[in-house]
Amino acid sequence: MEFKFTPLMKQRLTRRASEMIEHSLRYFPELQDSTITIGYTRKHLGSATVIYRKGIISRLIIRLKVRRLTYQTIGHELTHLIQGLGRGNLTAPRATDPDRIPSGETQCDIWTLARDPLFCDDPPTYIKMPRVMRERWPDYAESVRELCVAAIEKRHTQRQYIRWLEQKIRELGKAPKREKSACPAQLFLPFVI
Ligand SMILES: [Zn+2]
Repeated sequence: MEFKFTPLMKQRLTRRASEMIEHSLRYFPELQDSTITIGYTRKHLGSATVIYRKGIISRLIIRLKVRRLTYQTIGHELTHLIQGLGRGNLTAPRATDPDRIPSGETQCDIWTLARDPLFCDDPPTYIKMPRVMRERWPDYAESVRELCVAAIEKRHTQRQYIRWLEQKIRELGKAPKREKSACPAQLFLPFVI
């Protein structure tokens, strides 16, 4: 996989951000044949753009805010690129592979969290969840990720998988707080029915 930083990003890039980006890219084998341009933004946490020339994908760009950069944001923007690649060139009929990542922001969050615990260092932006979960995200991250993995499985049989996921997340937020150490991971498995 090749990637290059824009001139502005080169000026703003910190060693920490650069290492985080390189590390994240290893988790996206789908991008290995692509060249990705990585730019800088100060307005948003990040953005992703797929540029077409005559309907053919010609460039993949993400832009990131360097200050307080999270793996969550990097993963989210890279997942948008996968969504774009999955959609394919505009000249071809829409891809119908059931395993491709569907377009949409909430979908992007779900597939980003599910990809790897690395991308769970900050709460996602678009998945609806109780405020307490955002405030105490480290307590919930692992369980929410497991629910995202389960939701992706559910999608094969259930069109309302996002509604299902957000309902389960609400229930998780209402559940009495259990200390992480006293709570073996198996306890979460019954969600995956
Ligand atoms: Zn997005």
